[in-house]
Formats: sequence, structure tokens, C-alpha cells
Amino acid sequence: MAKRDYYEILGVARGASAEDVKKAYRKLAIKYHPDKNPDDPSAEEKFKEAAEAYEILSSPEKRQRYDQYGHQGSQGGFGGGGSMNMEDIFSQFGDIFGGGFGGGSFGGGGGRGQRKGSNLRIKLKLDLEEVANGVEKKIKVKRQVACDHCRGNGSKNGTSLKKCTTCNGTGQIRKVVNTMLGQMVSATTCTTCNGDGQMVSERCDYCHGNGTSEKEEQISIKVPGGVADGMQLSMSGKGNYPRGGGIPGDLIILIEEQEDEILKRDGLNIIYDLYISFTDAVFGSSLEIPTIDGKVKIKIEPGTQSGKILRLKGKGVKDLNGYGKGDQLIYVNVWTPQALNKEEKELMEKMKGSENFKPNPGKNDKGFFEKMKEFF
Ligand SMILES: [Zn+2]
Ligand SMILES: [Zn+2]
Repeated sequence: MAKRDYYEILGVARGASAEDVKKAYRKLAIKYHPDKNPDDPSAEEKFKEAAEAYEILSSPEKRQRYDQYGHQGSQGGFGGGGSMNMEDIFSQFGDIFGGGFGGGSFGGGGGRGQRKGSNLRIKLKLDLEEVANGVEKKIKVKRQVACDHCRGNGSKNGTSLKKCTTCNGTGQIRKVVNTMLGQMVSATTCTTCNGDGQMVSERCDYCHGNGTSEKEEQISIKVPGGVADGMQLSMSGKGNYPRGGGIPGDLIILIEEQEDEILKRDGLNIIYDLYISFTDAVFGSSLEIPTIDGKVKIKIEPGTQSGKILRLKGKGVKDLNGYGKGDQLIYVNVWTPQALNKEEKELMEKMKGSENFKPNPGKNDKGFFEKMKEFF
């Protein structure tokens, strides 16, 4: 693969000063820093490309050789040129970031520290009552756990380990690199033993050296009230145990909210459409209606109009941040009979002309818009 010109990569002129080269690199390094571009895999490539260019152009000797012979003349200090790894870049040029990225370490994804297992993802279906009040769910999850026989390190009886031959048991690979401050020793984590300094001499018979085994486990998930469809909860350490030892990944729980046929959620409120008979609207009544906490009795006042909204305080959805609860709103609809028998028809005919049957809204019978203002 043809390499791009180092000056072109950094966007500087061939005669650029050392200070300009440094400034140009700093700009690119910040722009393409992997922590700032988690969703762009090409950013890391650009980041590495810029670091390689800077490694050459920041060294007067290397720059001179590069100017004379091009890429042939410059052997990068990173394992024969070309493949730089992120740790090299940070150990060598970390100072250029001025500590702006958490002291030069990068994200949780870096090879430093312990190996982490993969995350497990599950979907969790919840009904309205569970979503509204919160719930503790026990579910079965199949996950990779540390092998019982070797305690996760993959060696026979858990003890059959020998010194890593790559790093001689130190867990680190040291090499001398050239920086703008002169030669420096850089230490990176040994990839053979992942920094443990030990490797397996005889494999565990049960896990064949993987250090893991599959297990079905019952996990208790505490779901807080107020979650919504599409939200994710995360339980740290309940994912898969990594091969060869380390710390388990996380369990990611995707919430699926199942719609209720009768009660509808509207943010923190629950909406219920109530139909009452014409006679209940006229004479008043006491009715049982459903709520997320079971049946509740409500009173219908005599002379109740269709469109009235009743409020049951605190019968809504819990606020996820703990700021109380929403309400249940009851929309009252007066049912107009659609079929009448002869006798009923005659009675209604008699009342047709009555003054009391003519709509005559007073100040207590507000229209839809006035009511909405009152409630929201
Ligand atoms: Zn084992
Ligand atoms: Zn090693």
C-alpha cells in the first residue's frame, strides 16, 4: 500500500518549522482522537497516520533522511514502520496532549489494566404496572463464567503456570524509542501474557485452557419505576468472563414496554377513557374503574357532562429520578344510546321539547380547550 506523504498528512509545507510541525500534529491528534470519535473507525487510522508522520518529521535526523530518500529512508520506530499501536503513540507523544485526555490513557478500550469480557444483551418485557411502579425481575441468563477447576486462568488445577517467555515474566515489553526529547524507554503490555507475566504450561482439562465455561444463572434485575421503551439498563460484571482471565463484561438490559389495552401511558400520567350511561350522568353514580394499583371507586356527580376530566392523584407512573409520581386522568364520555325499543323511544320523544334538555353551558361546564389548560 502506497504511503501518503508525511508533509501532506500533517498539512504543512516542506520547509515548515519544528514548531509548526508540532502544532499541526497536535491539531490532528485532537481531531482524530479515538475517544472523540467512538463511532468512526477511520479516525483511529488517521490518528495513527498522523502520529507516524509526526514521529519522522519531529526528529531532525529522520526528517532529513525522509527528505532525501522518502519513505524508504525512514524506518519508523514502531516495529519496522507502519503498524503503530495506540499505546506506543501515547507513551511516546502523550505529552503533546497536555493531559487533556485523562493523562494520556485512552478510554476503557485501551490494552492497559485487566482484560474485560464481552457484554451480554437481553430484552426485558414489562407491562404497564411494572413500568409505572418498578419491579424486581428474576431471569435466567446463559453466560461465560470463570472455570471452576482452574479459577479462570486455563491451567491444569489452576496452578500449572510458568514464566512468560516473551516478556520473561515482567508482563511488559520495553523498547527504546526516539522522541523529540531524545531516546526514551517505552514499556508496553506484553501481548503473549496480557501483562500477567505468566503463561499456562499445562492446560486445564475442563475448559481446554480457555478459563471459561458456560453457565445458566439466575439474575435478579431491579428495574426502577418510570423506565420507558428502548431504555437500557446496565449491570456491571454480569456479562461474559473473558478467555484467559480478567473481569467479566456487563449485562445490558433493553426495556420493552408492552402496551396496556385499557390504560394508556402519557409520560408520567395514565389516561383512562371512561364511558358512563346517560342516566348515570344525569343522576350521578359510584363506579369502579381500573388503575395500575387495582380497582378504585370513583364518584360521578349528578349532571356530569361528557368530556369532563377527573384526576386520581398519584395513580400514575413513578418519576425515574425520584420526583414523585404522575396521576391518572379519567376522561368521562357520556354514552348516547344507539338503539332504543318502542317504550324507550316514546319516553325520549316526550322529553324532546323539554327546556332542561337544551344545552346551556354555565361557567362550570368548560369546553375542551379550557379543560386542557387546566390539566397540562
Ligand atoms: Zn479450567
Ligand atoms: Zn508476557
